[in-house]
Amino acid sequence: MAATGMADTAMPDTVSAAAAMPATLIDSHCHLDAAEFGRAAAEVADEAAAKGVRWIVVPSVERANFDTVAAMAQGHASCVYALGIHPMYVPHAAEHDLVLLRERVQRALDDPRFVAIGEIGLDFFIPELKQGALRDKQEHFYVEQLKIARDFDLPVILHVRRSQDTLLKYLRRIRVRGGIAHAFNGSEQQASAFTGLGFVLGFGGAMTYTRALQIRRLAAELPLDSIVLETDAPDIAPSWLHPAVNTPAQLPRIAAELAELRGQPVADIAHHTTHNVARVLPRLGSLMMA
Ligand SMILES: [Zn+2]
Repeated sequence: MAATGMADTAMPDTVSAAAAMPATLIDSHCHLDAAEFGRAAAEVADEAAAKGVRWIVVPSVERANFDTVAAMAQGHASCVYALGIHPMYVPHAAEHDLVLLRERVQRALDDPRFVAIGEIGLDFFIPELKQGALRDKQEHFYVEQLKIARDFDLPVILHVRRSQDTLLKYLRRIRVRGGIAHAFNGSEQQASAFTGLGFVLGFGGAMTYTRALQIRRLAAELPLDSIVLETDAPDIAPSWLHPAVNTPAQLPRIAAELAELRGQPVADIAHHTTHNVARVLPRLGSLMMA
């Protein structure tokens, strides 16, 4: 809206105030309920909010924390949540957990702070999970959770570790509405396969290490409309923090790193990555408009 009627002298103050305001950012992946944060989770989210991290997406990892992440999102203005069973928690999950997840998702549809199915996916980095019965179980849980996402038309938040092609194989069979491939690490071809299926790619702490050539090249060269920012806190500490516990308050510096890699103003990075999250997580997009 034009500032008609406003005294001319008010303008410089308004402009400088806006410049001093941190850009609005979204941490698209943060395990704020992790034991590392303990009772300090609210302060951790407040500290991030003071630095411009307006929203934090908190995925669940197993049945035992479905209610925890939901309560966290209902209790803190910054937080929204996803429900799912993480591949590294699949070994201890029961078949019945999939039934409980579907019921829990059905109920969560009334909750505007519920935004996605996640964190789900496949982990072929851990040797025991890569073969035999545990691999079959991982694939089974992934497929069944994709079906839940498809049936409720919800986006998914994917855990991708040495599993890009198998993840893609099932995404081609079970068509979900897209989502976020979190902590993306893969080839340019795999990146475009994910974006072709409606996904954006999450970049965070791993991108801050100069030896991470492939990730840094992708971050620099992919179209900006396929990138979102994340911390994965308390994990994947950025280079300047390593080995300390990562927090969502690191996101502005991660955004600045991406801006430098791409040679673009950080304000553009903030604007586009925030818009991208709102696009792939439309329930969060609606909250942002409210
Ligand atoms: Zn995660």
